[in-house]
Amino acid sequence: MTHDLPAGAEQQARNVPLDAHLHTDQSPDSSVPIDVYAAQAVERGIPEIAITDHVDFDPRDPAYRYTRYEDRERTVRDAAERWAREGVVIRFGAELTYNRRWEADVREHLARHRYDYVIGSVHDWPESPYWPSRVRGFIEGRSLDEILEPYYTEIIAAARSGLFDTIGHLDVVKRYLHPFITPADLAARQELQEPALFAIIESGAVLEVNSSGLRYPGAETYPSAAVVARYRELGGERVVVGSDAHSRGSFAARLGESYGHLAAAGFDALTFRRGAERVRIPVPDGTSVGTVDSLHT
Ligand SMILES: [Zn+2]
Ligand SMILES: [Zn+2]
Repeated sequence: MTHDLPAGAEQQARNVPLDAHLHTDQSPDSSVPIDVYAAQAVERGIPEIAITDHVDFDPRDPAYRYTRYEDRERTVRDAAERWAREGVVIRFGAELTYNRRWEADVREHLARHRYDYVIGSVHDWPESPYWPSRVRGFIEGRSLDEILEPYYTEIIAAARSGLFDTIGHLDVVKRYLHPFITPADLAARQELQEPALFAIIESGAVLEVNSSGLRYPGAETYPSAAVVARYRELGGERVVVGSDAHSRGSFAARLGESYGHLAAAGFDALTFRRGAERVRIPVPDGTSVGTVDSLHT
């Protein structure tokens, strides 16, 4: 789960074609009504957004049965109808927390419910070694390979499951490992992420470049620009972006940097799903993606 900094502190992108990762008050860790994002999209010239509220499968996780599918769908579809007239298209998505131990439940959920777009994310799970009270002890005496292994094992399984359009915020594990493992430690061993990148490429899933990491210590997208470039070198073709906003101030926050990383790596289009329709959406060239911060990345 993400927990935002105070609202209003962020650089919000303008005139980008899509923000594909947003949490409303139908997620336990957000209190933003959907209309607030829609109004900001109109104001900032962002023509399409995806609402991706959390769905969890472990009863100990916060979004477990937090809302009913029917209520989420009705809220998003009703808003989509209202806001279409204003020039913003709202897609009904979800962010499903993946772990091998509840993969069957995810599969069943997706068989029974229809979304326009589905992100699969690996979050810190109740027994994980990255849990705040355990992480320090887990890291002690272990190699970086061993430290990353539990997280990337789940990522690889998520990709191979074939359940998701997109793998969300790859390498968010660096947030769980802060401050014991730094982005520089990870950058020095970039090859440790390659099995996950290969699994994503082979599965056909889309790699998300999530700008929420820029709001945390380490201040990098999930994944970093270097990993996005490596994904491309390895043959990766499918990418998408999201701000992962949980507050009104983080809507589209620093999303220009995510787009900038894609453009720099040579991607000219996003891959996205609108229900039955899979689409490619052109990545604007660097000059039209406007945040001040994106200019020096
Ligand atoms: Zn997430
Ligand atoms: Zn999210």
